[in-house]
Amino acid sequence: MKRILVTGGAGFIGSHLCDRLLKEQNDVICLDNYFTGSKDNIRHLLDNHNFELIRHDITTPYYAEVDEIYNLACPASPVHYQYNPIKTFKTSVYGAVNMLGLARRTKAKILQASTSEVYGDPAVHPQVEGYWGNVNPIGIRSCYDEGKRAAETLFMDYNRQNNVRVKIIRIFNTYGPRMNPNDGRVVSNFIVQALKGENITIYGDGSQTRSFQYVSDLIEAMIRMMNTPDDFTGPVNIGNPGEFTMLELAAMVIKLTNSSSKIVFCELPGDDPKQRRPDISIAYEKLSGWTPSIKLEEGLKETIAYFDHIL
Ligand code: NAD
Ligand code: UDP
Repeated sequence: MKRILVTGGAGFIGSHLCDRLLKEQNDVICLDNYFTGSKDNIRHLLDNHNFELIRHDITTPYYAEVDEIYNLACPASPVHYQYNPIKTFKTSVYGAVNMLGLARRTKAKILQASTSEVYGDPAVHPQVEGYWGNVNPIGIRSCYDEGKRAAETLFMDYNRQNNVRVKIIRIFNTYGPRMNPNDGRVVSNFIVQALKGENITIYGDGSQTRSFQYVSDLIEAMIRMMNTPDDFTGPVNIGNPGEFTMLELAAMVIKLTNSSSKIVFCELPGDDPKQRRPDISIAYEKLSGWTPSIKLEEGLKETIAYFDHIL
């Protein structure tokens, strides 16, 4: 039995990861400060003897004997990460230092939940891992983008300098049940608006694209990545290459919810990337033929059913 630490374990992705790790008979420690996560996401695990829940902020050190660390703690929605940008940056950077220090002391393997945001508003399309990105260092998204870039730097330096066994995945827009309904990201916004019959808010003209990955495909890739040989650090793109404009997404959500909601156009936030699609050849090659299996329409149906239930 492995003892596995999941930071941000009460969040959307973290809670699904805890489910999967417990199903595989691991001992799981979930750390969270509940900034954007919720006990509701892991309430069903509280009676499991292999699960421990700890309120902790990763900007301060934490110590426990562990075999593996998944570092997910960080607000991921622009609305939330821009709420207190200094805190967001500290969570990424101090959090990475604290968790890497723990990995060094305990000789644990550590996986970083990095992001497609490291590519910024990409000039290379689709995005390959070798592309260094086009990120504004002083804009409103920088606390997140640059925080995640600095965390990647720290991961690689701890690997080169201290032989810490690191794994970096760059996650592209992921959605599914347990997203926070007030989280402000596009999939949850559109579904909640459609279910309530409210206007669907498209930022800008809706021609910007994103590639949406269903959460179960991501979890499978995370587990496979952690189990790759020690000399493979990544970074690896993990996402679904299906690419959609926000207008296409809105139309699909309206159709699937049978909603009478109307589309309205709102101001585009600063530095909003115009396009995003992962090249997943490295993931396919290194993660034993991993490729996403859930199509957008299928994943949206599951997510709509979840929001319908909680609303
Ligand atoms: P989320 O907001 O649901 O989860 C983040 C969790 O981290 C929450 O439970 C929050 O309370 C916790 N947290 C935040 N700051 C913390 C701190 N200082 N100390 C302890 N806990 C803290 O978001 P998510 O979508 O589940 O994202 C999880 C991770 O995956 C994040 O690191 C995010 O950057 C990364 N990621 C997500 C996506 C996506 O599309 N969902 C894309 C790229 C990267
Ligand atoms: N977006 C939108 N309406 C919303 C929320 C977001 O049109 O109500 C747009 C946003 O401007 C961006 C895309 O949807 O172009 C994805 O936004 P999200 O916040 O989900 O993720 P990110 O921009 O970080 O990829």
